[in-house]
Amino acid sequence: MSEKTSVLIVGAGPAGLAAALELARFGIPVRIVDKSTEAQKESRAVAINPRTLELLDHCGASEHLIHHGIKLKGARIVAGGRVRATFDATRLPHRYNFMLALAQSETERLLARTLAEHGIKVERGVEVTDVVAGEDGASVRARGPAGETTIKADWVVGADGAHSIVRKCLDLEFPGAPYPYHWSLVDVDLAGEAEEDHAELRLDWKGPIMVRVPLAPGRHRVISNGEGVLSRLPASWKPGKVHWQSDFTVSHRMVKKRGHGRVWLIGDAAHIHSPAGGRGMNLGIEDGVSFARCIHAKASIEGWADRRQRRARRVVRESDAMQRLATAQGFMGRRVAPAVIRGLLRVRPLHDILIKHIGGLN
Ligand SMILES: Cc1cc2nc3c(=O)[nH]c(=O)nc-3n(C[C@H](O)[C@H](O)[C@H](O)COP(=O)(O)OP(=O)(O)OC[C@H]3O[C@@H](n4cnc5c(N)ncnc54)[C@H](O)[C@@H]3O)c2cc1C
Repeated sequence: MSEKTSVLIVGAGPAGLAAALELARFGIPVRIVDKSTEAQKESRAVAINPRTLELLDHCGASEHLIHHGIKLKGARIVAGGRVRATFDATRLPHRYNFMLALAQSETERLLARTLAEHGIKVERGVEVTDVVAGEDGASVRARGPAGETTIKADWVVGADGAHSIVRKCLDLEFPGAPYPYHWSLVDVDLAGEAEEDHAELRLDWKGPIMVRVPLAPGRHRVISNGEGVLSRLPASWKPGKVHWQSDFTVSHRMVKKRGHGRVWLIGDAAHIHSPAGGRGMNLGIEDGVSFARCIHAKASIEGWADRRQRRARRVVRESDAMQRLATAQGFMGRRVAPAVIRGLLRVRPLHDILIKHIGGLN
């Protein structure tokens, strides 16, 4: 069987959903397929920045996200048991002067719900197996509940994550390397001194770092660059029910080319990097929305790809630098670095530049 559409999006993670929403807003015919038969349930990325909220405003998604998320006023850096510095997001000169904390599973659910309000449903259980790029379109082989099918599309978007089949079909390299750390995370109920409106980065004089982000009233994400984070929580946090835990390693990788002709990559299919700074999901959503705007404006797709590559390169470099700074050991890493950060954040103009940067508003 053969079918035809204007844009086919492969993958209904945050990047693919964001692209579909923006295309739907412009009235451009779009289909979005995902090989998984159900929405994913893991909390994964938990921070949505103001730039992402701004981008998802027009399609109507931001109000749903804000309604369900927690508005964080900022983040503390705690070293040697004392607050050394505070990032104050309320100083952002923007209507979204906060970071929004929300589990990725919820973000995806709300994006898919908004997409349904635009009349488009994610087609689940449809696995793309091959993509052949042509002169003015592409041909996609897929296996779904109705059997094997061929979908012809004017444009194909590979939003199919780090192990992208679309990237493999285009024969695009994904160079990079793994980081030498194990990470562990836990979503856990915490009582005690765990602030509900601030995230926290804890740097002890020795050992792994720890980041805490409030996820829902009483529930927090704690992530650390070492195994078994749950057994290393500070005594002032009183753990209760554990909702999810995971140990994982990360790599930094980026395609040299975003695609060609009518087939292009967005999100983790094009770039992966350290979780330091919480930029991965936000960057993928930016890719998706900007792709849709480029198609709508009939602007140069190569120009779009160049801009996205520059942006991704910068984010990969910055998250790498943040990870190195946060995980540096010894006197320089644990005594000097926090003191330097504290000194810098006391200079208000510098603080304001940094917080804009973290909010994606630079
Ligand atoms: C444990 C964990 C913790 C994380 N923590 C953070 C964090 O704190 N901050 C942060 O920013 N990021 C974090 N991330 C990364 C973040 O989850 C990703 O950056 C984000 O999910 C990327 O979105 P995406 O839409 O590009 O791809 P994905 O979310 O990977 O979505 C890809 C989709 O494509 C579908 N698919 C794959 N192959 C096919 C195929 N052949 N046919 C059809 N469909 C297909 C998949 O089923 C999937 O639904 C974390 C990730 C993990 C695993």
